[in-house]
Amino acid sequence: AARTQVDLADLGPGHTKDGHPVSLYLNIGSMKDVRTGAQGAGLLRTEFLFLGRKDSPSRAEQHAAYLELFNAFPGARVVIRTLDAGADKPLPFLALPDEENPALGVRGLRTARLRPEVLDDQLAAIASAAEAAACEVWVMAPMVATPAEAADFAARARAHGLQHVGAMVEIPAAALRAARLLEHLDFLSIGTNDLGQYTMAADRQDGRLPDLLDPWQPALLELIALAAEAGRAAGKPVGVCGEAAADPRLAAVLVGLGVTSLSMAAAAVPAVHAELSARTLRECRELAEQARDALDPAQARALASRS
Ligand code: PEP
Ligand code: MG
Repeated sequence: AARTQVDLADLGPGHTKDGHPVSLYLNIGSMKDVRTGAQGAGLLRTEFLFLGRKDSPSRAEQHAAYLELFNAFPGARVVIRTLDAGADKPLPFLALPDEENPALGVRGLRTARLRPEVLDDQLAAIASAAEAAACEVWVMAPMVATPAEAADFAARARAHGLQHVGAMVEIPAAALRAARLLEHLDFLSIGTNDLGQYTMAADRQDGRLPDLLDPWQPALLELIALAAEAGRAAGKPVGVCGEAAADPRLAAVLVGLGVTSLSMAAAAVPAVHAELSARTLRECRELAEQARDALDPAQARALASRS
């Protein structure tokens, strides 16, 4: 609790010991997660506005809610994610059919196949709020699997006048084809919670499989490296906004893998900032190399903690 008292503005922008910049953003679910002095918001989850709703919020209602959040980050960047319905986030107004395997079903961006008008309303509200706001708004879609989905989402978002359009990498297919996704997009943001779940075929809500869901799984790190490398080749940012970004030592590994920003709960920012400030980019790369080469998460952690 004491750590949340730190004024984020006092920390300044994130960087390695040798001055390589790594933006540190906040994950935001509602106004209560906002802290002043942050570099921006790397994941604004919009589900909060829709949870439990039987009718979908109007464009005007969405505009007001997004504008309030955007204005909490004056002069900064806010990455807003379109609606992410899923197994763990039921949204009654979407009236989705029951599914045997909700985690593998019509969730995230896929809900727009059944209810395209809901995505259009949301993009219109995001675009109008972005016009009115004093921050830089980036928009991204959750659960993108294919370049075609990325192209379709980008076309819709740009039709509303949105200029910075990206996708989350939460499905192994998206990591494997990150370069192709980036032909249509301006940035990627890796959601390690879902990417871990789908890489290991282990339900993120199943408490019996902690070893498989460990964010230090070398297979997960390999996929993150692929996405980061595609971003480097395209000259486009690739961040991480899953829980992995909040583990200071793993944050250093992620930077070593080539990730350009990290987004986390405000309470995690001071420790991640301190860890990165104590390591050169070269050290981060060495840590990443060791973690990738490890046999399992325990060894990856142990190797990265030696130095
Ligand atoms: C993720 O999957 O890592 C992520 C950030 O999205 P969410 O946790 O909202 O599914
Ligand atoms: Mg997710």
